[in-house]
Amino acid sequence: MEKPDIMSMTKEELKDFVVSLGESAYRAGQLFRRMHTATPIDEMTDLSKAFREKLKESAEYRLPTIEKKLVSKKDGTVKYLFGLIDGECVESVLMKYEYGNTLCVSSQAGCRMGCKFCASTLSGRVRNLTPSEILGQVALAARDSGERVHGIVMMGIGEPLDNYDNVIRFLHLVGDEGGLGIGMRHISLSTCGIVPGIRRLADEGIPVTLSVSLHAYDNDKRREIMPIANKYPIDELLAACRYYFDKTGRRVSFEYTLISGKNDTPEDAAGLASLLKEKMGVPSHINLIMLNEVEETGLKSTGRQRAAAFADELCRRGQNATVRRRLGGDIDASCGQLRLNRNREAGR
Ligand code: SAH
Repeated sequence: MEKPDIMSMTKEELKDFVVSLGESAYRAGQLFRRMHTATPIDEMTDLSKAFREKLKESAEYRLPTIEKKLVSKKDGTVKYLFGLIDGECVESVLMKYEYGNTLCVSSQAGCRMGCKFCASTLSGRVRNLTPSEILGQVALAARDSGERVHGIVMMGIGEPLDNYDNVIRFLHLVGDEGGLGIGMRHISLSTCGIVPGIRRLADEGIPVTLSVSLHAYDNDKRREIMPIANKYPIDELLAACRYYFDKTGRRVSFEYTLISGKNDTPEDAAGLASLLKEKMGVPSHINLIMLNEVEETGLKSTGRQRAAAFADELCRRGQNATVRRRLGGDIDASCGQLRLNRNREAGR
């Protein structure tokens, strides 16, 4: 029989489990806190030896392993390649900002969304990550770096809304004051635009910042680079974003990756500005991203100057737009590439 995955349990569930092992419910709080700081069982010395032995026998508690760690000499960004229980691996990136550390986490091993410019989707989706595997990335990055993680962005490998239940459970766990206690206002969830998932999230009562990968202002252009656009047209997508804003009061953020010759002309900027004005009608933020070139895709990045002009054009038209600062440029910090290379080396 499979052992229960205790790091995926809420504190209440953990209490029941701990009691079922003949321990007092109070131990659950200690165990919860220890797991969320990635403490190995043998080092949980506030728990009795007998209880620790019982846990080893009857529970599943496996943290990811650090397969690779790259530290940027430029800005201190740390990129982790984490190994999972079945030999799969995912990436996380720890970024250091003046206002605190942000960790970018993965939600799936691979991705099945098929965006044309993205490294994470090139070999498809292998599986969903469990809540404990997503939480493990945060716990281990904090433990390994010795730094506090203040914020989280779900912008690593995978489509979070394609692994909905596990992602929601992860959000509840990581926000729990008895563990890491990271507030929902310090968490962003990025989606390629799964409309029913956005609506469900709006009703969930956990006000994370919603980031939507738009990348084009009209359906034809969007379909060329994002297959999900065949399923959900832009009108439906923006109606769901507006619903998210109305329900949560949170400003929605739009990601727009600039790809040379695809979506980076002044007309594109004008189209984007009028689209958001008309369909959102409330303040939002446009995050312009310089394409990280992935050899296999053949797509090229827009130049810095052109990107700045694109941002200016949006601002001139009343939109709030910034070009995202690029961290960890020297360590290939954009997600998906380390995993891709590693899987190739391993012949996967
Ligand atoms: N699946 C989610 C989250 C993961 S990707 C989503 O699609 O939003 C996080 C962001 O990085 C998305 O906006 C995605 O479109 C963008 N992205 C992916 N590959 C990229 C690349 N090679 N260069 C720049 N941005 C990229």
